[in-house]
Amino acid sequence: MLGVRGDVINSIFYVIVIAALIMAGCSSEEESLELHQQQLFTFGTLVDISLVTDDPEQAQLAIDMVSAEFDRLHTDWHPWQDGALGQVNKQLSSLEFFSTSPSVISLLQQSNLLSEKSAGLFNPAIGKLIKLWQFDQLENEQFQFTMPSAEAVQSLLQQKPQMQDIVINNDTMQIKSNNPAVSLDFGAFAKGVAIERVIKILKANKIQNALINAGGDLKVIGTKNERPWRIGIKNPDQAQNPSAPAVIAAIKLHSDESLFTSGNYERFFEFQGKHYHHIIDPRTGYPGRGTRSVTVLTKDAGLADAASTALFIAGPEQWPEIARKMGIEYVMLISTDDRIYLSPAMAERIELLTDVEPEIIR
Ligand code: ADP
Ligand code: MG
Repeated sequence: MLGVRGDVINSIFYVIVIAALIMAGCSSEEESLELHQQQLFTFGTLVDISLVTDDPEQAQLAIDMVSAEFDRLHTDWHPWQDGALGQVNKQLSSLEFFSTSPSVISLLQQSNLLSEKSAGLFNPAIGKLIKLWQFDQLENEQFQFTMPSAEAVQSLLQQKPQMQDIVINNDTMQIKSNNPAVSLDFGAFAKGVAIERVIKILKANKIQNALINAGGDLKVIGTKNERPWRIGIKNPDQAQNPSAPAVIAAIKLHSDESLFTSGNYERFFEFQGKHYHHIIDPRTGYPGRGTRSVTVLTKDAGLADAASTALFIAGPEQWPEIARKMGIEYVMLISTDDRIYLSPAMAERIELLTDVEPEIIR
């Protein structure tokens, strides 16, 4: 069974839930300010754009710019299609210097730092491992998943692909890899960086109140009718049990805050009764164990994206240490044994909509 399954249907449902949550709280005082919403299909997901402004023309112009930027970056940063990063991945194994685009170099530099801070748990250099798990085939309905051989996984692990293997020459805009096992996959980061960029575009175009929501990964600026944007966090139970509540918690976001969730229900294969999801532990080469979802709140959307993935891999034991290293204060982790762990800062802000008693970890 393929895991993108009802993904689009789920996303639509989720967007409706989020929309319902953010709509609650409209006041009649600011009638000139209107909510403009549009959905785009980009970055492999439905992206919901909500702008609050009194100028419908400006809103449409901004939405068009955002849409064009998302599409451009998705092409540029796609690991195996024919954009800038796809070209990079074809040339890396030569171990020679070659030219690439400034947008790829910027992604490399930022993720190099984050990979180090996450103790290598966020590791975009494991593109070959991700391919071995066939996540490039998830959208292909004819495709039959097969377990990667333990030998193939071990052989890649032994070659230790990591971001530090990439050498960047800023003067010539050239890069090279020192390790033939490196292939780049920014699936855990690119969406965040793209959201950060489109928020900048919105601000530059005088949009002060907005929510950009890519299937539950999101950033807000300003307010929604002078009240904070209130966001629902997806209940991991919903993926298996459609009658379970859609959201497990809600949180009010201040301007410039991002909220990102990595879940084991987002992209997966089911094979011989087992669930193989898309977040790979770079230490084992296998899907990370022990976590169902991690939600991270921080200002920078790129950091939020990378950190939600790293903390997912870190799991119920190690997440506080990695969160500290990455400078993340707000975390919720739901484990595979259904415990809810919160950082103290998150515990102060989140509204849990479940009977499960959370554990606050200092
Ligand atoms: P989503 O894309 O569902 O929001 P994530 O942000 O956690 O989820 O990103 C998962 C994607 O990142 C995978 O589909 C894969 O492309 C890539 N990836 C998987 N494991 C890792 C890892 N340990 N480090 C960096 N990238 C990863
Ligand atoms: Mg991520």
